[in-house]
Amino acid sequence: MASVTLDLSTATPAPRAPANLSGLTRVELQAELVASGLTPPEKARMRASQLWRWIHHFGVTDFAAMTDVAKELRAGLAERFTLARPEVVERQISQDGSRKWLIRTAPGIEIETVYIPDVGRAGALCVSSQVGCTLNCTFCHTGTQPLVRNLTAAEIIAQVQVARDDLGEWPSPKEDRRLSNVVFMGMGEPLYNLENVAAAIDIIADGEGIAISRRRITVSTSGVVPEIPRAGELTQAMLAISLHATNDELRNTLVPLNKRYPIAELLDAIRAYPGLSNARRVTFEYVMLKGVNDSPEEARRLVQLMKGLPAKINLIPFNPWPGSPYECSDWATIERFASILNRGGYASPIRTPRGRDILAACGQLKSESEKLRASVRRAQAPAA
Ligand code: SAH
Ligand code: SF4
Repeated sequence: MASVTLDLSTATPAPRAPANLSGLTRVELQAELVASGLTPPEKARMRASQLWRWIHHFGVTDFAAMTDVAKELRAGLAERFTLARPEVVERQISQDGSRKWLIRTAPGIEIETVYIPDVGRAGALCVSSQVGCTLNCTFCHTGTQPLVRNLTAAEIIAQVQVARDDLGEWPSPKEDRRLSNVVFMGMGEPLYNLENVAAAIDIIADGEGIAISRRRITVSTSGVVPEIPRAGELTQAMLAISLHATNDELRNTLVPLNKRYPIAELLDAIRAYPGLSNARRVTFEYVMLKGVNDSPEEARRLVQLMKGLPAKINLIPFNPWPGSPYECSDWATIERFASILNRGGYASPIRTPRGRDILAACGQLKSESEKLRASVRRAQAPAA
């Protein structure tokens, strides 16, 4: 066998992209400062706190703006690190005030993020946790896109930063915020990317930075039962469950993950979720599909299922997308469904459709890059 010798003497290492500090947790930030040699270990905590305020309270993207940091240190930081935002490829504003951004963090990684005013305390940001999704809920547009990959904590934080840049919310306002809530209801299944979602929530909830409390952060899952307890421990966020059906047979078709984790197991996991109380209720999401899951009988069954749980129900009018196989229930049907739930003792606000004109509503997110790639594939496919 011929032996191969590598002459490494002339090999130049590939230039390493500078690390972005704005996606690191406090602990990671301290470690990075020490590893860079810019900060001695005994000063790491203090230095990290100082930078933290600039990055997450003031939202600066340039080390030069950190006026209480020594000039030489600022220069050293700028040499090794960056605070740059990713590229915003597209920005759309709906007639109703919703906003949608398409953010490109790397080649082929395009993330959709939506701001919806008048939801939660003031306005909610709907963030993505993955590009695409491994699950295939039949009513969801994202579900038609294969998983590209999990987003990093930095990519999740970048969505909040881009929204805040655009809404003009730096430094973190104490009152009268426009962006008051964060919901993990964009693209992807957050419980399949729990470590990064939890790290991002640690950053978002930090009181000296973005400062959105965990009670205003909601993680929505299609029902990844084995991860629900850990999600509670790691995030202490509010829990939302995409239920959509009251019996296993129908849920198996709408949310195929139900075949692995049926409704009874899901309800047991919810009961064990830490911190549930009347003040911290679990939200059940229920998408209204005409003639599929919207009968009065199903509303009554839903009330039965939730007995004993501190819960509220969010009725979501189905948001159609090009080629979707369902229709939205009639308004009168949705109202009748809601009134049965109300009589059963459960608050059940109907989520008013927002941002439909820019395809920004729940379940409509699917990255443009994927649509583009699909259309190129179609154009290249040999004619049948
Ligand atoms: N993967 C997670 C979070 C993202 S989906 C989950 O499934 O919970 C966020 C919410 O939008 C879920 O409740 C989902 O069921 C709902 N949804 C998906 N497609 C929809 C559509 N076309 N119309 C209305 N709601 C939809
Ligand atoms: Fe994935 Fe949620 Fe869409 Fe289901 S509803 S395909 S879990 S993003």
